[in-house]
Amino acid sequence: MNVFLGLLMIPVVFVIMEGVAWFLHKYVMHGFLWVLHEDHHRPTKSKLQKNDLYGLFFAILSILLILLGTLNGFNALFYLGWGITSYGIGYLLFHDIMFHRRIKSIRWRPQTPYFQRIIRAHATHHQKSTAHSGVAFGFLYASKKYNQG
Ligand SMILES: [Zn+2]
Ligand SMILES: [Zn+2]
Repeated sequence: MNVFLGLLMIPVVFVIMEGVAWFLHKYVMHGFLWVLHEDHHRPTKSKLQKNDLYGLFFAILSILLILLGTLNGFNALFYLGWGITSYGIGYLLFHDIMFHRRIKSIRWRPQTPYFQRIIRAHATHHQKSTAHSGVAFGFLYASKKYNQG
């Protein structure tokens, strides 16, 4: 695959992955696989959550895609794998580290309108969502109604 097109694919896959994550979160995690997400919605003392299996799934999928793409002359699968990885890094940084402070020593919350919006949206998600219903299922995108009032 043309390297330039391949590199262009990465941000496109990143944006598509926010849609995939939104869909999964709304219809699968708050649906028939709630059993793997519920520990993310209650206080837990353990360092790992069953919910981390979703991240692990995409990490393994990315590794396999990058491997397959590499073995096949760096075809589209290679860039697809890196696109999913880039989204995973965004999710890890902004959802796990910035919002949920899973690394206790890192207290980082950028005070820009964008970050304040996704923080408000995710806080609302955690306040108002139950097993099979909820609001604000995005992770890196939130609608304007979560802007500071
Ligand atoms: Zn949720
Ligand atoms: Zn969360």
